[in-house]
Amino acid sequence: MSATPMTPTTDFDCDLLVIGAGSGGVRAARFAAQRGARVIVVEGSALGGTCVNVGCIPKKLYSYAAHYAESFEQSHGFGWEAPTPRLDWAVLKARRAAEITRLNGIYEGLLRGAGVRLVRGWGRLIDAHTVAVRSVDGGEEDPPQIHTARHILLATGGGPQRVHHAGAEHALSSDDMFDLDPFPRRLVVVGGGYIACEFASIFQGLGAQVTLVHRGSRLLRGFDTEVVDFVTAEMRKKGIVIRLDATVADVELEAGGQTLRLARAGGSGEADQDTTIEVDAVLHATGRTPRTAGLGLEAVGIVPNARGCVPVDGSYQTVVPSIHAIGDLVGHMALTPVALAEAMVLVDRLFGNGTRPPIDYALIPTAVFTHPNIGTVGLSEEAARERAPVRIYRSDFKALQHTLSGSSERTLVKIVVDDESDRVLGMHMVGADAGEVIQGFAVALQAGVTKAQLDRTIGIHPTVAEEFVTMREVSRR
Ligand code: FAD
Ligand code: NDP
Repeated sequence: MSATPMTPTTDFDCDLLVIGAGSGGVRAARFAAQRGARVIVVEGSALGGTCVNVGCIPKKLYSYAAHYAESFEQSHGFGWEAPTPRLDWAVLKARRAAEITRLNGIYEGLLRGAGVRLVRGWGRLIDAHTVAVRSVDGGEEDPPQIHTARHILLATGGGPQRVHHAGAEHALSSDDMFDLDPFPRRLVVVGGGYIACEFASIFQGLGAQVTLVHRGSRLLRGFDTEVVDFVTAEMRKKGIVIRLDATVADVELEAGGQTLRLARAGGSGEADQDTTIEVDAVLHATGRTPRTAGLGLEAVGIVPNARGCVPVDGSYQTVVPSIHAIGDLVGHMALTPVALAEAMVLVDRLFGNGTRPPIDYALIPTAVFTHPNIGTVGLSEEAARERAPVRIYRSDFKALQHTLSGSSERTLVKIVVDDESDRVLGMHMVGADAGEVIQGFAVALQAGVTKAQLDRTIGIHPTVAEEFVTMREVSRR
């Protein structure tokens, strides 16, 4: 794509000032600089933001670590003989930390290599073209640095949202989990979303006794119901205690641990004495809120919406034409690839020829790294049924590996098809590496694949993924 030559604006310090060097901010800064823009990035914490430091990457590393427990056990079914290995939590933490530090360095190199100027500190809007940066190291009295910019991009992401109950101050957020000391032998996870389910699986795999407490009657709101019920059963089979329709009444810190009492969700809120749990740690995984505090939105007249997100139009412009926002801060979908894609659309609009197509938010594939994983793209069966008559193709089975491994884990694959047009509306999987499998099928959905085209596709044998192209019988309409 050829970029439109930019008219340099020498009356500002830079063409683009980005607040936040996370997934979206770094991508926007690099690509704007590559198109000839003079770019400043302001970051108050570690480069790479949530994903690199306390999100996707360390989480997935710990998920890999957790999977080994099962692999060691299952290897006996294939003839391997070895004493049961023991996890050295301190080694895992140190190796994760070293890898994250390496990635922080890579991000810095990428920015500097692209000619981006990195300013360490916390940015705050002063007016439509001016940002004040308070140095990370400086005191409150130190005067902030002032930078002016033709365009400002807000990419400050979000942070953990805490819930209130007696003793909530003893609870941790996902940010705290990566360096916990000592390893929590008994963990209660509060919440039923992505983070709650993933961390429950990870810490159970690493050796903790995990109880997941969710206020709703089903985990993972918005996901296909059959997928949710299936993964819930699989998680329970692995030993996670899942308490639905329950909330935490209180947490008390005592010598040698904590005591947590549960109440029924929507009930009186009175603690039920039968549901007192001894725990070493309590994790609040109850959503994330956009990071707008201290950003100076009020100075420029930007008013967050009811969810606390910065409102933007279709090209990520706020009510102030020179100020833009992307990523978790705008809250379309809090996923790294979404923040990256939004950055690319914005940079193309500001510094390219503006021909990059808008993001199709309806077809964003996603994985939940539970054990086993969920991979999904397109509509759930429930959402599809609200629109049109559908055909459902589904199969659940024991994967070939588990015929010898001794594991009772099962895999679910499911296709939701529009009955009239034959177009595939959704594809879902619960099983090993479901995200890897669904990523490929997401391309097919993006291209408008029909069930007939899936039927014409030759499978790769023996794989789990071949089930998606070999299901012929309609399971239900
Ligand atoms: P962020 O990456 O959060 O970056 C924002 C940056 O702005 C931060 O570095 C912050 O320090 C900085 N900042 C904030 N305020 C200021 C200020 N005033 N001045 C200067 N700097 C500031 N997504 C996936 O796609 N896959 C996953 O597997 C996945 N796993 C996750 C696991 C966890 C535990 C969490 C919490 C999130 C996970 N996510 C995952 C979501 C993903 O991390 C986010 O969607 C993504 O990081 C959002 O990018 P962003 O650029 O909007 O913000
Ligand atoms: P989610 O929105 O996924 O889930 C929040 C959970 O907390 C829901 O189950 C919600 O219940 C519950 N909850 C909210 N408020 C309360 C309350 N007051 N009391 C009790 N429970 C409450 O948020 P997460 O924090 O899990 O993750 C944030 C986002 O980060 C995700 O939505 C996702 O976009 C991203 N992420 C992506 C990952 C991936 O791609 N694999 C992994 C981790 C995070 P209810 O359903 O009833 O509202």
